[in-house]
Amino acid sequence: MKQADVLIAGAGPAGLSAAIYVQRSGKKAIVLEGNTYGGQIINTPEVENYPGIQKISGFDFATALYGQAAGLGAEVVFDRGIGVEKTAGGFILKGASGEEYAGSALIIATGARNRHLGISGEDELLGRGISYCATCDGAFFKGKEVAVQGGGNTALEDAMFLSQYCSHVYLIHRREGFRGEPGQLEALRKKENVTFLLNRTVTELEGAEKLTGVVMTDTRTGEKTSLPVSGLFVAIGQEPDAGVFREMVSVDEKGYIIADESCRTSEPGIFAAGDVRTKEVRQLATAASDGAVAALAAVKHITEMESAS
Ligand code: NAP
Repeated sequence: MKQADVLIAGAGPAGLSAAIYVQRSGKKAIVLEGNTYGGQIINTPEVENYPGIQKISGFDFATALYGQAAGLGAEVVFDRGIGVEKTAGGFILKGASGEEYAGSALIIATGARNRHLGISGEDELLGRGISYCATCDGAFFKGKEVAVQGGGNTALEDAMFLSQYCSHVYLIHRREGFRGEPGQLEALRKKENVTFLLNRTVTELEGAEKLTGVVMTDTRTGEKTSLPVSGLFVAIGQEPDAGVFREMVSVDEKGYIIADESCRTSEPGIFAAGDVRTKEVRQLATAASDGAVAALAAVKHITEMESAS
């Protein structure tokens, strides 16, 4: 069994920031990650709102964060946590590899995953026209007509990114107001190959082997319109990825882990950081901030446990 002071689930900005603070506090962090490091930010083309950095690609940011945590001695293990158990001295995380990891405190920083439209054919056409990541898959649609569904920052960024490669981008949003940043919205409105299709949602997918078009339903009138596109980028927000940890701590009605501003959950010794926890603002800066707060709270918890024993 691998032993750490603080176990961290998730190597996104919150988890890696936590690892940096744990290591700098003189404690040992093991970070468990089921996919790749960096979380959602690794697929963000440009980060322009992280204080102190004018512009950086999400990949470069995530890689620098990973390098910083690893350089300080944090052990990042690519193994998915499939079970968690409370012990007398803390917690044991069971990895999908069969390895087990023990720690005196646990930080859950598993983030959020992309929400699906939930329509027929969405899973079958994944990778055949349906995508949840414009930066990952955009190049496959060079010179083609594509659609993006969504009205938040991700949808606006995706549409802007795709407009550089695709012949035309249709931005489909279910209402007229956007959640995304006004500056980004204005930049998009100026693009000649971007068309806004408002008060509509994609309700049907066309094509058997690969996507050939989408059917949109007008959210006010119910009228249906077909749009021939070879790609649909779904950017309609995220859902918490609390996974196995949901059993250990209290969650809200949407499944986000209930944690206070100190990142403390309902279970002593377990902390939640970043997009997976209940909070108002889910941004890169707030994820990093949570990581620091959760790490210092976890270290304090360990110190209190040590002085009590
Ligand atoms: P989001 O802000 O939650 O926006 C989701 C969008 O999808 C909303 O416009 C929502 O419509 C729409 N939507 C939700 N469910 C839908 C459904 N079933 N059918 C059709 N449309 C649906 O999600 P996000 O854009 O992924 O952003 C998530 C967070 O990350 C936000 O806080 C965002 O600011 C942040 N982010 C930041 C950056 C950056 O700073 N560079 C980049 C990306 C994301 P309604 O508006 O009608 O609810």
